[in-house]
Amino acid sequence: MVDEQKVREQIVEIATQCYGRGLLVAGDGNISVRVAPNRIIATPSGVSKGRMKPEMMVVVDLEGNPLEPSDYKVSTEWPMHRVIYQARSDIHAVAHAHPPYATGFAVAGLSLDRAILSEVILTLGCVPLAAYGTPSTHELTDAIKPYLEYHDALLMANHGAVAYADTLEKAFNKLETLEHTCRISFIARALGNENTIPDGAVEKLFEIRERSGAIRPEARTGQVCAIGRAGEEGSRRGDGDGNEKVTLTRAELIELLMESARLLN
Ligand SMILES: [Zn+2]
Repeated sequence: MVDEQKVREQIVEIATQCYGRGLLVAGDGNISVRVAPNRIIATPSGVSKGRMKPEMMVVVDLEGNPLEPSDYKVSTEWPMHRVIYQARSDIHAVAHAHPPYATGFAVAGLSLDRAILSEVILTLGCVPLAAYGTPSTHELTDAIKPYLEYHDALLMANHGAVAYADTLEKAFNKLETLEHTCRISFIARALGNENTIPDGAVEKLFEIRERSGAIRPEARTGQVCAIGRAGEEGSRRGDGDGNEKVTLTRAELIELLMESARLLN
């Protein structure tokens, strides 16, 4: 039997940390924990994450209907949580925020898909960018749905980030790791050189990660992230006659165009 009072206190603790770490401001973001298949405890709408109290938490079913009387309402962004819980029975906690570096990536149209830090490959894997969808509508849930099976964190274009795990602590860690990595990537890009780990070494990291069960093996086959597969594809492309199709992510295309523009200048 889950101690729901403890869950409420843990959500407040994590919300306070999100606020303290600057991962969100004012009434931004929302956190939830699934305590039974159709019973979820979530942060209330419109209250700053820096001023939450355990008794303010709302208890809802998967559809977002209140299961206990409360002065507070669940966030209008509830459908984002619902679609994650529906897609993944292994997920029991969701943390959504607008961390400045991760959200900066999402505004710039970039996913976190380069193998730059070995520990991030081990714990988080690559983080794709889902297309823009108006928050609280099916546009947003439709945009994130295709990635849920393969990834444990997502960037949402012109919006923010969401991370999810079997426990709230792990979901928060993933969100924090995502923000920290976007920050490091930003600094490396600002310094002019973002070197990546060699493909062979990335493959070894994938193996360690899958053996340890730290991350879903499915993440390796994620549709948008090419970590560890770039080499394979590159060599396959090299064998062609010049008519073969080449797939680029939006970020890669932008980078290619910017590089060409630089060369022309
Ligand atoms: Zn949001």
